Amino acid sequence: MSNLIKETHTKFQMPALIYPAGALAPVISQSTMEIHFGKHLQTYVDNLNKNVADTEYQDMSLREIITQAPPGPMLSNAGQVLNHLLYFEQFTPHVQGNNRPGHNLREFIHFDFGNFDTLKRKMEDAAASLFGSGWVWLAQEESGKLNIISCPNGDSPLRHRMTPLYGIDLWEHAYYLDYQNRRAEHVKKLWDIVDWEMVESRLDI
Ligand code: MN
Repeated sequence: MSNLIKETHTKFQMPALIYPAGALAPVISQSTMEIHFGKHLQTYVDNLNKNVADTEYQDMSLREIITQAPPGPMLSNAGQVLNHLLYFEQFTPHVQGNNRPGHNLREFIHFDFGNFDTLKRKMEDAAASLFGSGWVWLAQEESGKLNIISCPNGDSPLRHRMTPLYGIDLWEHAYYLDYQNRRAEHVKKLWDIVDWEMVESRLDI
């Protein structure tokens, strides 16, 4: 997570998109990707830089800001910058066949949820019942246990002493162009493009 590290007094920078904007279609269309990554994330980065300028937070990492800032615009924008860095990195156009977690992550999932299908159903249920904008995350507690956490708006699992592993963006900007009001269908389709190696690399083993 090198994006979380910031040199003294430099600004937060936009990350690079690690695949072409249209590469995840039809699960996520090129138009959605261009607006989501190019416009929404850019706005969160710009606002975060404005919020931290000339404050005690300007030399802090994203993690430090998220865990230390009081509720308000700075915290919300920092949360959204981290949420989106993790979000765009967790997908891949190179999935082949039945997309499932690898061995190490699967052992965690089996221990804490019973099996992969149960995890999927629980995340889909959490996504369906989240009211308004926000995120549902597969996250890891400090004990090592995996859990599912619903985060309203720009909230981050880091605020709840949990490590974010796989996040579903439930702001309408993430799916409305492609799925309109069909949030549940979008959430189900996302399983086809998850980069489980990336997700597993976030585990604290
Ligand atoms: Mn978003």
